[in-house]
Amino acid sequence: MHHFQYHDEELYCEDIPVRKIIQDVGTPVYIYSRRTLEHHARVYEGAFEQMDHLSCFAIKANSNLSVIRLFAGNGMGADVVSGGEIFRALKAGVPPDRIVFAGVGKTKAEMAYALRRGILMFNCESSAELDLLDSVARDMNKKAPVAIRVNPDIDASTHPYISTGLEKNKFGLNMESAFQEYLRAKEMKGIEITGMHTHIGSQITEIGPFRDAVDRIKGLIERISGKGLAIRNMDIGGGLGIRYRDETPPTPAEWAQTLIPVSNDLGCRIISEPGRVLVGNAGVLVTRVLYLKNTSVKRFAIVDAGMNDLIRPSLYQSYHDIWPVCRREGEVINMDIVGPICESGDFFARDRAMTMPMPNDLLAVMSAGAYGFTMSSNYNSRPRSAEVMVDGGEFMVVRGRETYEDLIRGETV
Ligand SMILES: *Cc1c(COP(=O)(O)O)cnc(C)c1O
Repeated sequence: MHHFQYHDEELYCEDIPVRKIIQDVGTPVYIYSRRTLEHHARVYEGAFEQMDHLSCFAIKANSNLSVIRLFAGNGMGADVVSGGEIFRALKAGVPPDRIVFAGVGKTKAEMAYALRRGILMFNCESSAELDLLDSVARDMNKKAPVAIRVNPDIDASTHPYISTGLEKNKFGLNMESAFQEYLRAKEMKGIEITGMHTHIGSQITEIGPFRDAVDRIKGLIERISGKGLAIRNMDIGGGLGIRYRDETPPTPAEWAQTLIPVSNDLGCRIISEPGRVLVGNAGVLVTRVLYLKNTSVKRFAIVDAGMNDLIRPSLYQSYHDIWPVCRREGEVINMDIVGPICESGDFFARDRAMTMPMPNDLLAVMSAGAYGFTMSSNYNSRPRSAEVMVDGGEFMVVRGRETYEDLIRGETV
């Protein structure tokens, strides 16, 4: 569900023609629909309301302060994977006791920062990390609240780069190692065990892997309780897929239903870490066609956004719908939509059947709200695009377009 719709032949975000926004802000630009974000937050929170829960928005999916603040305003916390993300979450108004911190490579400085700010929980991913956290916390005369991230060895049937719950992945500890680490952690003066964590991957479109993961985690929680360790928070991660093309992912309600009995049995609070499902379909990347170009075997539309702005097609071969901002009559042809970057991997669509656009036409790359701007870079010394939030009939630039001066900040000759 989203609020990007055609009225007559023109694409609107909520009550504003996208063309109007572009007149002010230019291209390329990310446009987010506040109404869509609010709707997703309500649906998600509604799904979990029957149980003691905390939803921590995975801010790596979209870390714009306005987006984080919107979710914080809906009672959500933040799932962070770096010190920088803790900083963003706090700036956006997320209370520290609603922040959970995952990641396989936390530094000592990040641990100390998180401890000083009093976050809810460290999701620890290795034995060595646990030792370091224990020592950092003891040096500060604190106890670090910890969940161990368990890798349940489950195939989430998603792209290999975003599959995280397999034994061969770098994340978490397998069931047996996790059990041993819990026993070890129990004796550590700088550690307080408060939870158990798992996260098996992203863009998961079947309920099966989620169920299997929860079953395994539940079994381990029971085994650990038997050793006199209480697990207050069961953190089941994120990963719910969205529809980019024709996927039919489970709804938040279907996912939550599978958790009610578990939450009742164990008496834990259920923490989840939704990212993509909240923001993916709430944003688009709008770009302008610069040139048309034909070779003997291909037709190209060259646009002013590139893989530095949205890397998902290049990195994951992912599919994004591409809609004209103003529909026009014309021949439907197969074409590649490509960017200006000096890489053949710089494309948004390949052999896509679409009405042939003309130079200067605007195209909306759909479902770009998750892992879009956050994965953007300055590659080819391209200033990063602006971000705009639409609210009904109004819009606001929530991140200004970078300038050439921004590109060289901090550099010296
Ligand atoms: C990326 C990530 C998430 C969010 O994943 P989505 O697929 O966007 O829901 C949640 N938890 C952790 C630990 C992550 O790394």
